[in-house]
Amino acid sequence: MKTLKVNIVTPDGPVYDSEVEMVSTKAQSGELGILPGHIPMVAPLQIGAVRLKKGGNTELVAVSGGFLEVRPEQVTILAQSAETAEAIDVQRAKEAKGRAENRMQAQKDDVDFRRAELALKRAMNRINVSERNF
Ligand code: ATP
Repeated sequence: MKTLKVNIVTPDGPVYDSEVEMVSTKAQSGELGILPGHIPMVAPLQIGAVRLKKGGNTELVAVSGGFLEVRPEQVTILAQSAETAEAIDVQRAKEAKGRAENRMQAQKDDVDFRRAELALKRAMNRINVSERNF
């Protein structure tokens, strides 16, 4: 079976590097599914899960936005942060979720609200990835 090489990289270093059969994730323009031989493209990503199909299993990586670059045999994701499901500290994500919800209720101004909303999205994404809710 044909495979694609996938690298997920953050400013702190590489998070994922493997050959997979299919990659799917949410671009800002909508859901993307990439198989080997896909036409080259670059797309901005949403905060979400990257699903990596590999030998009958699907691995999940939480990414906080960033960019996806597709070449026929390689996919590179550059993200501000990314964690494999196993690396996620669920307790930390639950605490981040609680803080973000409190800040959204306080609603000091639009900037603070937007920041809190993004923090909430990151936290919920981490919780969902670690619980495999995808
Ligand atoms: P927190 O408020 O808990 O720091 P955050 O969403 O503000 O959450 P980020 O700025 O997205 O955190 O990430 C900072 C660093 O911490 C990154 O390296 C990221 O991978 C890591 N990180 C954040 N939350 C978690 C988590 N729940 N489990 C594992 N790593 C995490």
